[in-house]
Amino acid sequence: MAARILDGKSLAAQVRTEVKQKVEALAQRGIRPGLAVILAGDNPASRVYVRNKVLASEQTGVRSEVYELPASISEEALVDRVLALNDDPDVHGILVQLPLPKQVDSRRVLAAVAPAKDVDGFHESNLGALLAGAPRMVPCTPAGVMRLLDHAGVPLAGAHAVVIGRSNIVGKPVSILLLQRDATVTICHSKSRDLENIARSADILVAAVGRAKLVTGRMVKPGACVIDVGVNRLSDGSLAGDVDFASAAEVAGWITPVPGGVGPMTIAMLLENCVRAAGALK
Ligand code: NAP
Repeated sequence: MAARILDGKSLAAQVRTEVKQKVEALAQRGIRPGLAVILAGDNPASRVYVRNKVLASEQTGVRSEVYELPASISEEALVDRVLALNDDPDVHGILVQLPLPKQVDSRRVLAAVAPAKDVDGFHESNLGALLAGAPRMVPCTPAGVMRLLDHAGVPLAGAHAVVIGRSNIVGKPVSILLLQRDATVTICHSKSRDLENIARSADILVAAVGRAKLVTGRMVKPGACVIDVGVNRLSDGSLAGDVDFASAAEVAGWITPVPGGVGPMTIAMLLENCVRAAGALK
């Protein structure tokens, strides 16, 4: 295996230690960062994500509270809950776990979150600030991807970055962040023609699709940096990324594993956004 592993687990532990120090510094000023998590419905994957986020918060001293709401909740009631949390001075960060029940318009609920408390960075004003080159709350997974690249010292300026996936929470924001760091960015999606050749021209290949093992070694340029954002549950219960790790690692220069790559970084960046919202970071 040629590729160096981008170890998100160990970098995330480092970030969490830094967050803990910031939490302690905030305590000197009488501030305890508080995170409110809204979990509507009973999606088992959402439950696991929320549990992991709450656990990580507690480990760093961020106070967290989960608001479990029934799957039948109305959009109005959900928005009211968010508005009440906006007004709560002990709550610095609000996270609305997606997906929301189908009768609820997620955009409207996310728009109700006060931008200063939007620790997921999904509010349109935060996405707009990112697009305008003045980022405030940056979405956690894209921020985690950038931190992994920087930590490994992967050269970005002038590199060709190919991002597969154009969602508002991963593909688009990570593309903007790469562009702001002077990469030449190509964004691919389900209608893109000739994905294989485009991918093979990438110095940095980010897969954020949700299709297990879509990216194979044949699609990777020798020496490229491969970032696998995907989390896919296989029929045997195991987790797989969007990248076929075994074949891609033969060709790539750097690669993230799944699990243990981007996932832990997402949570670490969430905690960083929480202390930012509480006033410990710009
Ligand atoms: P999403 O909203 O479903 O977006 C998927 C994107 O992939 C879409 O833009 C879609 O194109 C594109 N796509 C689908 N099939 C494709 C194909 N065959 N070829 C090229 N592009 C294709 O997903 P998401 O929320 O961005 O998440 C993507 C993956 O990352 C999922 O596995 C998710 O679980 C994972 N994820 C992981 C973390 C983490 O912390 N590790 C965080 C967030 C998400 P169209 O736009 O044309 O439909």
